[in-house]
Amino acid sequence: MPTFEYFESKVIDVETRIDWAVDVLSGLPSGTHPEVVKVISQLISRINHQVSLLKKLLQTQRASYLPRIRIDYQTIEADLEKISTALLVPLLSEGSKEKALTPILSRICQEAGLQHIKDTLVMLGAPPATLPVAHECPIFCMPYEVTHSFRDWPALYHEAGHVFFSVNRRRYLDSLLTAIRNHFRRIVLATGPMAEPAKSERLRAIRSAENYWTDVRVEELFCDCFAGYCLGLSYAFLWTDLSFRWYSSPQEINLSDDHPPPSARFNCIWYCLPRSLKLDGCGQIIKSIWDAYLTGTVPASSSDPLQVNYDIACSPEAIQTLAETSLDILRNTATVPQYDGSIPTPEQALALKPFEPLTKLLNAAMAVLLLRPESYRGFQDRLLKELIQNQS
Ligand SMILES: [Zn+2]
Repeated sequence: MPTFEYFESKVIDVETRIDWAVDVLSGLPSGTHPEVVKVISQLISRINHQVSLLKKLLQTQRASYLPRIRIDYQTIEADLEKISTALLVPLLSEGSKEKALTPILSRICQEAGLQHIKDTLVMLGAPPATLPVAHECPIFCMPYEVTHSFRDWPALYHEAGHVFFSVNRRRYLDSLLTAIRNHFRRIVLATGPMAEPAKSERLRAIRSAENYWTDVRVEELFCDCFAGYCLGLSYAFLWTDLSFRWYSSPQEINLSDDHPPPSARFNCIWYCLPRSLKLDGCGQIIKSIWDAYLTGTVPASSSDPLQVNYDIACSPEAIQTLAETSLDILRNTATVPQYDGSIPTPEQALALKPFEPLTKLLNAAMAVLLLRPESYRGFQDRLLKELIQNQS
């Protein structure tokens, strides 16, 4: 356990960093993302309060307080880390490109029914992600190439799903976890008479499949449903693309990954799509690409008794249970609209203007790429240029 002297010196270091954060905030031009600034100011007040409590504990010099001192110090460090990496980095690195993209992200939030969002902040140079640290101003990370390629744009609808989920996280988690636990309970009850040790092994496999579905993994799958619901086929197309790029075994369960395996994610997205989109020409192409991809990959392995069994954890019934519960949450939230528009033909797509709904533009981009690839580059260059200019 570190000594009192160590913690006393660390308090000096912490106070230096708080002063720095205060200086940075006071140097920002007025009107800079007030929601993010408000969250940083609240964190600074909380840290100051924690530091004064910590100092009082240190003054006692009581060894029995050292475990508590360590926990308090770690909380302070975690809050400082949140300020410096999650909040100040995007705030200080915001340039003209980020500012030009911010209104487009606000449009995505608006069109996805996230009515509580007042502002957005963009951080370029990272894979698509969101940092819902400031409740009313989510921070969206995006790769630099989003200004020149539509490829990763659909992923932002998954990220908007995280923003939606964060508003009522506990309630949505309860619904999803209850649904999946009930599903596995039914599987246990349906297990017929079996001799030992096969029966114990079967029950163990079901239990580990149930435990696989943690808070984080059901949230990830929910966000896929959210994106499939709001954006339609364009999100399913992104998933075939991401799977090709990243995975050779799309059914492999990786316990160190908080995301379910790609095959489970694609099946869930596909389940959430309306029938009209599945039957659409582009829908048929995406499904045939996916099926061809699956035949060329390594199937799920269930021979390792210590592994979570994909066929149980991500069975069509398990995925359908989570997808149906997610869809119920979305249907009961009047603000989230479902993309049930048709997919523009390449001719219609080529005539689209940037002020059309972004969901339509992204589905149009997919249609041109799949059906008229020779026109894609010119279409993408024009539309992205107009889209970004139109906002600034
Ligand atoms: Zn996610």
